[in-house]
Amino acid sequence: MIVVDSHQDLAWNMLTFGRDYTRSVEETRQLEAGGKTPLRNGDTLLGWPEFQRGEVALVFATLFAAPERHKLGEWDKMTYANTTEAHRSYSAQMDAYERLVDEHPSKFQLVQSLQDFNNILAGWEAPAEAQTPVGLVILMEGAEGVREPAELEDWWQRGVRLVGPAWAGTRFCGGTREPGPLTAEGFALLESMAEFDMTLDLSHMDEQAVLQALDDFPGPLVATHSNPQALLKDSDINRFLSDRVLHGLIERDGIVGIPPYNKFLSWEWDPKHGRDAISLELVVDHIDYICQLSGDAKHVGIGTDFDGGFGVQSVPGEIDTIVDLQLLIPLLKKRGYTDDDTAAIMGGNWLRQLKESLPRSI
Ligand SMILES: [Zn+2]
Repeated sequence: MIVVDSHQDLAWNMLTFGRDYTRSVEETRQLEAGGKTPLRNGDTLLGWPEFQRGEVALVFATLFAAPERHKLGEWDKMTYANTTEAHRSYSAQMDAYERLVDEHPSKFQLVQSLQDFNNILAGWEAPAEAQTPVGLVILMEGAEGVREPAELEDWWQRGVRLVGPAWAGTRFCGGTREPGPLTAEGFALLESMAEFDMTLDLSHMDEQAVLQALDDFPGPLVATHSNPQALLKDSDINRFLSDRVLHGLIERDGIVGIPPYNKFLSWEWDPKHGRDAISLELVVDHIDYICQLSGDAKHVGIGTDFDGGFGVQSVPGEIDTIVDLQLLIPLLKKRGYTDDDTAAIMGGNWLRQLKESLPRSI
């Protein structure tokens, strides 16, 4: 069953920790054992051989940099003090993806158009023994790399197909732990995005800005890696989606990618409890919550955020690598989801979203 993962910070890992995602999880873990990377970002959950075994056909691969006020240490190189530096970091990450697909076209390919998308899927529909390239759809997370809204055209040309204006707050809008509305520049960014039929990623945007975007933005809307606030009642951050936002998103045929990150599955979880304290059943609870709200299984998927600031130490005990997302299938069926519903949740919904939003050709 094909899996689509709507959030992985691959380039950030490649440039910050020198991770090479053509390697297997085991190889990367061995190379990093005893070093600083597992302490800073946990042990990896991702690698190309695991994408093959886990049938991960498509990944939304991010361009991500944090503002300097959130710098975690000297090693945290992908941070910016101003827009020029942000542009440099985001560009370097786009370069990294271009190098990856140039050097390993049989392993990774950029998906910029419907034609690219169809090529990737054709590979995955071929016999199982064939090794198939993983499609990378480029998602800009925190849009400070866009120096002015008119520059969005350059990013579109380079392959960016989704933009999330916030991570922390940006000059476009309020973000995680930094609330605030869309600014004039934020509205201008959305206008520019609509011109290029880009998809808006609401994850990390403050609710005030999300509600404005739901009213104002005419194009496709999604949340690539967000959990329902109703299941995180004791949380004190604005990182989760209220029922009001979920209803708005569902009404616009949006999709929410659920990250199987323990802290976002249960706010009480602390690393000292150990990863086994959280079960994959809780991921199903989060998926099911959105399905109950929408009355169908068409608006939820998986957006792991794996390696995005946490590793194997912070995911449910059943998950050793991304391959284990497949374990969700029997759990969903046990809850009464049909084969079609399960396929939609594992990847089909994102496939539909991409089919509707990608340009026919470029
Ligand atoms: Zn994020």
